[in-house]
Amino acid sequence: MQNRRVKLLWLSAIACNGNAHSFLNYPNLEQFLKDFSFVYHPILESLYSLEDIINKQVECDILLIEGAISPEFKKANTPIINLISKYANIAKKVITIGTCATFGGIFKESGYRFTTGLHFEKEKELFLFSSLKDKTISLSGCPIHPEVLVSTLYAIKEDLELHLDRFLRPKEFYAYTIHSGCTRNEYFEYKIDNHQFGRLEGCMFYEHGCQAPFSHGSCNRILWNGVNSKTRNGEPCHGCTEPDFPKQNLFRTKKNMGVPQFLPLGVSKRAYLTLAGVTKAFKIKRLEEDLF
Ligand code: SF4
Ligand code: SF4
Repeated sequence: MQNRRVKLLWLSAIACNGNAHSFLNYPNLEQFLKDFSFVYHPILESLYSLEDIINKQVECDILLIEGAISPEFKKANTPIINLISKYANIAKKVITIGTCATFGGIFKESGYRFTTGLHFEKEKELFLFSSLKDKTISLSGCPIHPEVLVSTLYAIKEDLELHLDRFLRPKEFYAYTIHSGCTRNEYFEYKIDNHQFGRLEGCMFYEHGCQAPFSHGSCNRILWNGVNSKTRNGEPCHGCTEPDFPKQNLFRTKKNMGVPQFLPLGVSKRAYLTLAGVTKAFKIKRLEEDLF
């Protein structure tokens, strides 16, 4: 696909279209549309209509699926799973865009029965589309970062190898925790809490439910709109890239006997308590003061 325009077919299943809107924020869309074309997209102008892709067999290179999947859900009276099967067999690659298409996400709570992602229901592996696993890439996130989607598409176009984790997510973007790169890391290390959303000082792990230390993604490495992230800005990460998103009580840290229920990835309770004990023994005046 290196020397030609790549044909994309974007199917939306049970979705809020948040990923489509996030994609529209990609700053170099003009160049992107010289390298890729949409044979079908639910929002952007495209070569074919929904009726065309249902009634005809349209050529496409990459099938993009946005939204959760249920055998009950139809597009123009056609079950979404029939449409997925039809075009996934034609396409060379399939990408699940967002947490709903990957794990079921927020729409697991919708009225449709058996609502899941393409290959996973939360952490559980599914087998309905197992023959497609070898060609699938999962991009979780609510919504996905446009840079992550576009970089993945260019990697496919250029035939570059992507290293996938157990949920088929490219490690290039998902091997890190969201905590990595947050401007509040010093406050995390010295256990200084944030006491007001939006303030620049303090960390939101201990009181305000920040899930970044145990959530995978690049939000603090590839900034949103090129300038910021939720946690830098003073709002906790809700772990929207993870299979169990959304959890409940997103603005409060659940604790057992004063210890957060979920600890940073790979850190044992013993290691956590030892480090917390040491750092709390010291008062770092600079970190107690306002930045401005
Ligand atoms: S606010 Fe969240 S992302 Fe930032 S340092 Fe604290 S735990 Fe990490
Ligand atoms: S900071 Fe957390 S909740 Fe926000 S987009 Fe990134 S992974 Fe999702």
